[in-house]
Amino acid sequence: MIAIDVNEQTCTGCQLCVIVCPSECFAMEWKTNKAVVIDEVSCIMCMNCEDICPPDCIHIAVDATPPVVRPVPWEPRSSRRDSS
Ligand code: SF4
Ligand code: SF4
Repeated sequence: MIAIDVNEQTCTGCQLCVIVCPSECFAMEWKTNKAVVIDEVSCIMCMNCEDICPPDCIHIAVDATPPVVRPVPWEPRSSRRDSS
């Protein structure tokens, strides 16, 4: 899972991230004139936004937390109940 973080405190509202993102992950919040992330799933990690943002307020990161895998209870074949 990719996480896109925008520091709203330092965003100047230049809209460059909206323009350069090929996946349309950003939009402008018209009330605050700040960039907001509207679609993290479509990010292809091209890093255009991080590279172009003048105040360097965008951070792209990969959440490398492994998914939770629940073990399937195992029982020996001989102890299985007859389903018929
Ligand atoms: S490029 Fe940076 S400063 Fe410009 S709108 Fe996007 S987040 Fe804000
Ligand atoms: S890394 Fe590329 S695809 Fe992802 S949000 Fe930035 S510009 Fe868009």
